[in-house]
Amino acid sequence: MSKRDYYEVLGVARGADKKEIKKAYRSLANKYHPDKNPDNVEALEKFKEIGEAYEVLSSEEKRSAYDQYGHDAVNGQGGGYGGAQGGFSDIFGDVFGDIFGGGGQGGGGSRARRGSDLRYTLELDLEQAVWGCDEKIRIPTLVDCKPCDGSGAKPGTKPVTCPTCQGQGQVRMSQGFFSVQQTCPQCHGQGQIISDPCKSCHGQGRTQEYKTLSVKIPAGVDTGDRIRLSGEGEAGAHGAPAGDLFVQVSVKPHAIFERDGANLHCDVPISFTKAALGGEIDVPTLDGRVRLKVTAECQTGKLFRLRGKGVKPVRGGPVGDLICRVIVETPVKLTERQKELLQELDDSMGEGSSHSPKQSSWFDGVKKFFDEIKK
Ligand SMILES: [Zn+2]
Ligand SMILES: [Zn+2]
Repeated sequence: MSKRDYYEVLGVARGADKKEIKKAYRSLANKYHPDKNPDNVEALEKFKEIGEAYEVLSSEEKRSAYDQYGHDAVNGQGGGYGGAQGGFSDIFGDVFGDIFGGGGQGGGGSRARRGSDLRYTLELDLEQAVWGCDEKIRIPTLVDCKPCDGSGAKPGTKPVTCPTCQGQGQVRMSQGFFSVQQTCPQCHGQGQIISDPCKSCHGQGRTQEYKTLSVKIPAGVDTGDRIRLSGEGEAGAHGAPAGDLFVQVSVKPHAIFERDGANLHCDVPISFTKAALGGEIDVPTLDGRVRLKVTAECQTGKLFRLRGKGVKPVRGGPVGDLICRVIVETPVKLTERQKELLQELDDSMGEGSSHSPKQSSWFDGVKKFFDEIKK
């Protein structure tokens, strides 16, 4: 089928300027739009023809080539449509956006879509989370394909605006104004078609790569905190902005400390002699040992608070405390002599005496319990 002259198609003079061409295209595209002419093959052919003509005449480069050499010069642009190159994201051709005042209205929206955000879970030791650190992370990410510079088209060629939808990705129906009817059947909603896909990315415009990033972890982060690395997410398709990378902190359990917000907790075992007599013990903190004075007659479960030995929260606020819980330890591996001494000690205290306040009250409770059952 021989092609009509593009100027003729748009009904403009050969010397028509850009404005006139756009105006002519706008009114014709409106008239023959598939949504206005459902199941009208002739109108669809016309609409494609108009789109093709406009595509050439609206580009200075293509227009001058066409003026000199005719259809052959731009055939590469006009022919070869139809190969559906799936997988790449929406991209916006400038045509309709211009004409209808921005791509925002209707269901089509802007076609330049930023890349996806990525999430990376970073496991940290408690110390790293409390003091902050610089971590190197290696993340898989989609980056712009280098050979085709992200276009998806074979180097030296370009994706072209889909002639059916003029880059909208959708074919619409006019009812007062435009409303979405369906995804463009030719480009499957992409707005562009690639007749000659790039070999490296198979027309996707993006390839998967690993990249190593240095992440600065601020002091005081905790499990669930996220650090946003702007623009380090997935590359946007066809030159659209990249998404963000969210580094999600997960703090590993610590052998000694348990964190609760700004406070740290730890259990401190002490001998029962020290518990009884009182004295000083060493307790660990995140920045070294400190001496803790244990009062005499200290029971298991007693809490000692070391002010300011906790965590400085990442979002500000007072530094937390270290809360030590005393665990009184029963001595093991006693020699005969030690056993004798303990027995001697026990004998000296006598049964049910005031030396065991908890035991006394516990026995009282038990006695009361049995008395009540008997009644
Ligand atoms: Zn490529
Ligand atoms: Zn299309």
